[in-house]
Order: sequence, then C-alpha cells, then structure tokens
Amino acid sequence: MIEDAQEILVFTGAGLSTESGIPDFRSPGGVWDRYNSSDFYFQKIISDEKTREKYWKMSTEFYDTMKDAEPNIAHTAIRTLEDRGKLLAIVTQNIDHLHHKAGNSPDKIIEIHGTAFSVSCLNCGKSYDREEIEQR
Ligand SMILES: [Zn+2]
Repeated sequence: MIEDAQEILVFTGAGLSTESGIPDFRSPGGVWDRYNSSDFYFQKIISDEKTREKYWKMSTEFYDTMKDAEPNIAHTAIRTLEDRGKLLAIVTQNIDHLHHKAGNSPDKIIEIHGTAFSVSCLNCGKSYDREEIEQR
C-alpha cells in the first residue's frame, strides 16, 4: 500500500515516542499516575496561582524527559516517506518535537496539542523558546 500510494497522511500519538524513552500520559507509571489531569483544565490554570505552580512542576518534569530524547526508527521511517515525496502531512498528538528532530519539514508537521518546546504569553501571544522560560 505504501509503495503504491501517491500521498500519505500520518497520524501519530504517544506510542510512537515510548521507544525514545518518553512515557505516555495514560499508561501505568505515566504522567497521569502521578498527577490528576482534572487539576490542569485551562480555566483552572488561568484562575488559580497554586494550580499554575503545580502545572509548571509537572510540565518541567515532563520537559526534562523530552528535551534530550532522540527520534527512533519509527520517526525515521516517517521521515523516509517525506524523502520519497509521499508525505502529505503528519498530524501528531505528541508535543516532543521528535518529528522535527527526525528531519521532517516543519510545514508538514501539525501538532494538534501544541509543543513543549515553545511557550506563549496568554496576554499578548508572544512566543518564547522553552529553554528561556525554564531558566526563569
Ligand atoms: Zn506578553
């Protein structure tokens, strides 16, 4: 099917990155074993300082496991689809930037849950590199 296809749309989620050492949110030992997801509803985050502190604690812990992760053979296989001119786009739930690190073109990557590698100001929308925010 892949050899015969002209254009391929790829959907990816957490399972793609577990081989790269990034735990998924829902499996045993995952992020939601240690944190309560309902603590992080957007309205709660913007209205409560304690929730924001808890969010950034969780987010920093998760970012630390992601920032040095490397793409695995599955990311490389998807990059090969682009190299062969067959990749329409990647629609990913992942926020780990591993499709970027694998060498796929940024304009082919649609990160539906955003990315852990930049942070946007909720007041003015300005985007910051994540490392800059981690230093603060
Ligand atoms: Zn701002």
